[in-house]
Amino acid sequence: MPLVLYDTWSRTLRAFEPIHADHVGLYCCGPTVYDHAHIGNLRTYIFEDVLRRTLQLNGYNVRHVVNITDVGHLVSDADEGEDKMEKGSRRTGESARAIAERYTEAFMDDWRALNLLEPALWCRATDHIAEQIAFIAELEEKGYTYRTSDGIYFDTGKQDDYGFLARLDVAGLQAGKRVALGDKRRATDFALWKFSPAGSTRQMEWSSPWGRGFPGWHIECSAMSAKYLGPWFDLHCGGEDHIAVHHSNEIAQTQARHGTRLANFWMHGHFLMLDAGKMSKSGGDFVRLQSVIERGVDPLAYRYLCLSAHYRSSLRFNEGALDAAQSALGRLRKTYRQWPQGGAPDAHAIARFKAEVDHDLNLPRALAVLWEVVRSDLPPATRRATVDAFDAVLGLKLDQWHDKPVSIPVAIAALADERAEARAQKRWSEADRLREALRVAGWYVEDSASGQVLRPLD
Ligand code: AMP
Ligand code: ZN
Repeated sequence: MPLVLYDTWSRTLRAFEPIHADHVGLYCCGPTVYDHAHIGNLRTYIFEDVLRRTLQLNGYNVRHVVNITDVGHLVSDADEGEDKMEKGSRRTGESARAIAERYTEAFMDDWRALNLLEPALWCRATDHIAEQIAFIAELEEKGYTYRTSDGIYFDTGKQDDYGFLARLDVAGLQAGKRVALGDKRRATDFALWKFSPAGSTRQMEWSSPWGRGFPGWHIECSAMSAKYLGPWFDLHCGGEDHIAVHHSNEIAQTQARHGTRLANFWMHGHFLMLDAGKMSKSGGDFVRLQSVIERGVDPLAYRYLCLSAHYRSSLRFNEGALDAAQSALGRLRKTYRQWPQGGAPDAHAIARFKAEVDHDLNLPRALAVLWEVVRSDLPPATRRATVDAFDAVLGLKLDQWHDKPVSIPVAIAALADERAEARAQKRWSEADRLREALRVAGWYVEDSASGQVLRPLD
């Protein structure tokens, strides 16, 4: 049975066929590092990780690229308001760069805690300013841009099918926004390059053919994905909020420069909701993975919770659901632990599991197959080998779970103390160096409100 995935572009399920023989290109929009990620953001990365693992299960060699937005993402997706990084800097009194570094590091902690596979490449927007300028210059040459008092804008009126991904009602948007357009020609036009405000210096600004300033948010993804995966690659993912603006604009730019819609498949994870409504970073009321850990919940229980809902349905988060996931994972681990090694997987169960994940990542049904195997009368060693094979997609690290407390060698504890000291004194690069030394020695440090916790790396 072929791997079938839901493509937002066509609004249909389509059989996956790779573009290249030797690899599958997967680009995922990454975090804007002005604050911690919330567990809603992390739900999207878990969906993308499961996608990657499913591609690998199908024998593909996945080239996974994730960007880090450390400049240019304005408070409003409509190119208005302050840059989120500079706003974060005002909030904490640190430089925009220091903030980017700190929240990138915190993000990587969450990434590892959720057992997300390391991408082939992380790429930062600020490391690719030249590529973004070259991209904009070519758009200008081709006649897709115009200048306003505050920047260089993309003229969406030049493309008949602008907004197709989102099935945007461009005319309706235009009529609704006529009054508040400012210098923009159309409501859907967006900034490629913003000028630094006259008379003030931004922390992050660069010179360009159009004057000092900084790139708009969307251009980084078009420029970096083309650089690392080529202008036509297999899959591009993000959360559902990206469909209407960010991804529509990435497509517009790439269409104008390269004549492609970037990716053969566009896939979007639906939102994690709080009982009170949508979870958002800027709304203030958000839950971090760290808050989950501080409640005594294993981060992998959050991963389990996400697997229990299909990525294309919204998931309501509350403590009851999290606790239920934690106890299900606990039951699974304890049962698994009793099974001996040395068996061979059950081919029939494997085929059933694979059919579920291959059908647009139906993880809730795949988990049901898992529980059938757990409760079956297959020999315990067979069950273990079968569940191990499932775990290549689930990523719950079942074979690495230890329920006994581990003892920490004295030298490791000393290194960890030094790191805690460095952090307390805000010597971030020293703290990072020590974290890396611990990692090399096989230990992972987690920061919690009550101090740092050391865990052996598996
Ligand atoms: P950001 O750091 O805001 O740029 O977002 C990072 C990723 O999280 C993007 O793919 C967003 O689409 C996604 N995202 C944002 N809010 C949520 C949410 N409540 N649930 C799921 N994904 C989200
Ligand atoms: Zn993006």
